[in-house]
Amino acid sequence: MRIDILTLFPEMCESVLKESIIGRAREKGFVEINAVNIRDYTEDKHNRVDDATYGGGTGMIMQNQPIYDCYLDVCKKHRTKPRLIYMSPQGESLTQQKVKELSLLDGIVILCGHYEGIDERVIEEIADEEISIGDYVLTGGELPALVLADSISRMIEGVLPNDEAKELESHYNGLLEYPQYTRPPVWHGKEVPEVLLSGNHGKIEKWRREQSLRRTYLRRPEMLETAPLTKEDREYLKKLKETENETE
Ligand code: SAM
Repeated sequence: MRIDILTLFPEMCESVLKESIIGRAREKGFVEINAVNIRDYTEDKHNRVDDATYGGGTGMIMQNQPIYDCYLDVCKKHRTKPRLIYMSPQGESLTQQKVKELSLLDGIVILCGHYEGIDERVIEEIADEEISIGDYVLTGGELPALVLADSISRMIEGVLPNDEAKELESHYNGLLEYPQYTRPPVWHGKEVPEVLLSGNHGKIEKWRREQSLRRTYLRRPEMLETAPLTKEDREYLKKLKETENETE
C-alpha cells in the first residue's frame, strides 16, 4: 500500500510518521507513506499557494493549480489510479469499517486543507471522497490525515505483530474492548480480577467477552444493534439488563 499525503506542512507529518509502530512499518517496507509539499508545485513567482476568498470574508483559500499539479505528479508514482481523499469537517465520519475498506486498496492520496480551506473546483475535479475525523474544526488537515494514515496502516499485514492484536481491539468486531491490566497485581489497594491470574484460558476468554459486552452496553449501547452476537452473548446481555432493572 502506498499513501501520499499532500500538504503545506510535510515536516509536521514526517515528525509523527517516523516514530514508533508506523515508523518501523515504513522502514521494513510494509507500508509506504510520503508527505508531499504542495508548495513545491506552485507556478507563482513568490511561491504563493493561497489567495483571498471571492465574495469577501476572512481567511485565505488554497488555490487549484499547485494542488492539481501536485496530485497529477503523485499519481504517476502509483501503479493504478489512487483513491483521493480530501480531509474535511464536511465529510463522512471515519469509522473502523471505513478504515478496513480503505486498507484493502493499493494506493491512497490524502489531501490536507489549511487556512479557510480549498477552492471548491479542485475538490470537485480530483476528490473521490471526503472524510471527517469528527464534528469539530481543526486548523488544518494534517492531524486528520495522520489519523487516517495511522488507522489504515495498522490494518496492513505485517504492521502489527499478529492479527489478534488488531482483531481484539475496540470497534474491530463491533464491540468495545474489555479492560486490561498489567503488573503489579495490587495497586492503590485495587486488585487485578482474579480470573486473569488463574491461568484458565477458557474462563479468561469468557470473562473478557462478557466484559466487552458489558462495556459496550454501558458506554455505547447503540453498537449492540449491529454487532455480530452469539446466542450466549444475547443471554448474557439479557441477564445484565435484568440485574440492572432489579437494582433500579
Ligand atoms: N472552512 C471550512 C469549513 O467550514 O468546512 C473549514 C476549514 S478548516 C479551518 C481547514 C482544513 O482543516 C480543512 O480544509 C480540512 O482539510 C481540515 N479539517 C478541519 N477540521 C477537520 C475535521 N474535523 N476532519 C477532517 N479535516 C478537517
